[in-house]
Amino acid sequence: MTARLVLLGPPGAGKGTQAARLADELGIPAISTGDIFRANIKGGTELGKKVQAITASGALVPDELTNDLVRDRLAQDDAAEGFLLDGYPRNVAQVAALDEILGDRPLDLAVEITADPTVVVERLLKRAEIEGREDDTEDVIRHRLDVYAEQTAPISAVYGERGLLVQVDGIGDVDDVTARLLTAIGTAAR
Ligand code: ADP
Repeated sequence: MTARLVLLGPPGAGKGTQAARLADELGIPAISTGDIFRANIKGGTELGKKVQAITASGALVPDELTNDLVRDRLAQDDAAEGFLLDGYPRNVAQVAALDEILGDRPLDLAVEITADPTVVVERLLKRAEIEGREDDTEDVIRHRLDVYAEQTAPISAVYGERGLLVQVDGIGDVDDVTARLLTAIGTAAR
């Protein structure tokens, strides 16, 4: 199946975990802007140096940097037949940038994983103990959730108006959530 998909949902909703599983099932690459930033920070690249302090604070990286990164990544061969974007777009301006990047081959679907804020804070704090991500401290988590509510949550309505949005409950067993997502995608994607 060719599928051009974006995965939406708050920090801690399980986007990364589910994106990897969906990409496997659907045979398309999962592209996470957060993972790309973290890899660049770890590798000490120019981009990594630019974004390190920003990501550590839980703020958004400037749109121009992020849009260029996604444009380059989507131009690679493996994304020609489809992709699953995780963590992008993250504000309404990035929605417009993605429209422009995709041109006459637009998105098929925006899939939103929904989760209660109390649950996601708990999950992120637990993950902090295991992975030690710099932006998983309680203060930064709360800031990321505020940024999500203010800048990212409005994206759902934009895709909803286009008839492209499906919402899937992210609470429950990881396998069950994957099954729900695959059903939602299978029903809605062309
Ligand atoms: P989360 O668990 O909060 O969803 P991500 O791994 O998606 O985390 O992103 C981590 C950080 O990387 C964000 O807090 C932000 O600083 C930066 N980032 C990731 N994607 C974007 C984007 N599309 N636009 C701007 N900044 C981004």
